[in-house]
Amino acid sequence: MGGRANLAPSRPRALADRPRIGVLAMQGDFAEHAESLRRAGAEPVEVRLPGDLEGLDGLIIPGGESTTIGKLLDQWGMIEPLREQIGRGLPVWGTCAGAILLAKDVRDALPGQPLLEVMDIAVRRNAFGRQVQSFEAALEVPALGDEPFPAVFIRAPRIEAAGPQTEVLAMLPDGTIAAVRQGHLLATAFHPELTPDVRFHQLFLEFMQAAARS
Ligand code: GLN
Repeated sequence: MGGRANLAPSRPRALADRPRIGVLAMQGDFAEHAESLRRAGAEPVEVRLPGDLEGLDGLIIPGGESTTIGKLLDQWGMIEPLREQIGRGLPVWGTCAGAILLAKDVRDALPGQPLLEVMDIAVRRNAFGRQVQSFEAALEVPALGDEPFPAVFIRAPRIEAAGPQTEVLAMLPDGTIAAVRQGHLLATAFHPELTPDVRFHQLFLEFMQAAARS
C-alpha cells in the first residue's frame, strides 16, 4: 500500500479534564462505548448529524454492521463532514465495523458500500469464516502492559495489511493484526466496549491527548 503522510492535528489546544468524545450513534453498540468512555473518564456525546461533530475532542465509530452504518452516514450527509474533520486531525477510533469504515482498502465490501477511506490499512470483511465468526482471545498489547486484553471478535474483519505510516499495537498468535494506529487514527478488529476492561478506551484518550499536544 502506498504510504501517505499522517495528517496534522487541527486543534493543538489543551484538553478539558473530561474530554468530549463523540460516539457515532447510527447503528451498532454505541451505548456500550458511551458507558466505557464514562468509566474511562470522558464525556460521551452521541453523534448523528454533521452539527454534532462540533467541539469534539475525538470520535469513536462503533462495531455493528458497516454496510448499514455507511448507508446511514451517506443518507444523513455525514461522509464529507467526517472526512473533513479527520483531515483536520480529529482523533478517531473505529472498532470492527468502524475499522472497516476507516480503511482505504476494503476487501469483500458490498458493491457501492459507502466508506470513509481515510486510514492506510486493508481489511477483509467477515474474514474469520463461519465457524469462528465470534471468538475471544487474550491479546498481548504491549502498550497496555503485561496483563493481556480480553479481545472479543464478532464477525470481525481481518486487517490484512497496514501501511508504513502505521504502528501495529497488537497481533493474534498467527500474526494477524488486531489493533493498529496511524497518528490520530486507531482501528481495532475487536470490541473493547464489550468487556468491563476500559484500558483500550484509556489508551485512545492518551493518543488523543498526544495528538492535541503535537
Ligand atoms: N461484519 C460486520 C461488517 O462487515 C462487522 C461486525 C462487527 O462490527 N462486529 O460490518
